[in-house]
Amino acid sequence: MDKERLVKAVADAGVVGAGGGGFPAAVKLAADFEHYIANGAECEPLLHKDIELMSRYPEQIAEGLAMVRDLAGAQAAYFASKEKYAAIWERINPYLDKYDIVPKFLEDIYPAGDEFEVVWRVLGRAIPPGGIPLAVGAAVNNVETIYNIRRALDGEPVITKFLTVTGEVERPFTAPVPIGTEFSELIEFAKPKIADFVVIEGGPMMGKIVPPDEVVKKTTAGILILPPEHKLVRHRTMPIEYAVRIAASACMQCQSCTDLCPRHLLGHPIEPHKIMRSMAMPLSMPVEWMTAAMLCSECGVCEQFACPMGLSPRKINAELKRKFRENGVKFQPPGGETVPMPEREFRKIPSARLAERLGILDYYHIRPEFIPALPEPGRVKLVLRQGAGAPSVPVVKVGEMVQKGQLVASAPPNSIGANIHSPIDGTVASTVDAITIER
Ligand code: SF4
Ligand code: SF4
Repeated sequence: MDKERLVKAVADAGVVGAGGGGFPAAVKLAADFEHYIANGAECEPLLHKDIELMSRYPEQIAEGLAMVRDLAGAQAAYFASKEKYAAIWERINPYLDKYDIVPKFLEDIYPAGDEFEVVWRVLGRAIPPGGIPLAVGAAVNNVETIYNIRRALDGEPVITKFLTVTGEVERPFTAPVPIGTEFSELIEFAKPKIADFVVIEGGPMMGKIVPPDEVVKKTTAGILILPPEHKLVRHRTMPIEYAVRIAASACMQCQSCTDLCPRHLLGHPIEPHKIMRSMAMPLSMPVEWMTAAMLCSECGVCEQFACPMGLSPRKINAELKRKFRENGVKFQPPGGETVPMPEREFRKIPSARLAERLGILDYYHIRPEFIPALPEPGRVKLVLRQGAGAPSVPVVKVGEMVQKGQLVASAPPNSIGANIHSPIDGTVASTVDAITIER
């Protein structure tokens, strides 16, 4: 097998970034890179899906990592995970030795899993502002993505997603779940302790509030059940107009948000306190202060950890990014070398301290039960946009019988996207906006 066949096998199987970004893996692997990195940091508190994958499938992950390195013509492969996962290291070390993969130990801090952080920690290379890992010769994939790539090389399509369901539930669990399963089925299985709750898809830092009838996608890493009055819910439901108004009136310009901003500390010209100041005096501040919002990773450190006033620079940055994108405004890279600030070594955010600040300590020390197989759903709804790129194009019709693993929507022609396969045997009930398959 060569690189061309690697890329084709990964594209055929519909592999996308499983860590949250959802970028089609085949597109990433088609590029030239010297260093290939497995990201096993899983830095969002409460999520355990990567921990379970690394514990249970160390050989497949190491094999996938080595196969991509060799087929893509990279010089070296690295496995990066938290040093504290002693049991995982014990299991994977023999395979790292066997395949000549370099182990890299990460600290238990947030956001250790941001790929800008991972590349800096692993290679000592700083990705420039607005850049991607390829800018410094690296490609990074989440460990679940690599597991899926390994399976793709055996012709197995992506039809399940590892995820954790936790929070105010009696039975927190981690499991591989058929893509398209409705969240409500998984929540019911986890047995909520409260009748009135809010559902967050993803982790407590970067997850979004969704309705209970949301469905599992190739990017779903977690389902968090919280009481409506929880502070993580309050921040997320704050209307943007209100966030802007209090930014203008209550920001005391203490700079704590900038001092702790991980991207600022990596040497990127983003200073969230200046963006907040611009909200109060938009016409008298340099426009670059605001366009720097495009460098925000939306990690949430400023909002959930740094700001003593409970303000939300992240929300404002997200809105500015949306508006700039709509109006075709581009960030102008400053040029020159990107040099991380020496202070970043003294401004780390330990995960346990973050969990305490987020008000999730009650759930933080629980390791959700691993369930190897849940009861198969009677119906799946496969949304046509499973990650980054354009929606996939259905290749099946209503009434058609499909088999588990069969292609039901293909990557859009001439644009970035991914194939979608059926996770169950059944009959196609709808192809409008999503492909619904019933048993
Ligand atoms: S969310 Fe806040 S802390 Fe995170 S990158 Fe954006 S401005 Fe910086
Ligand atoms: S931390 Fe809060 S109060 Fe301080 S500058 Fe940033 S937004 Fe303003």
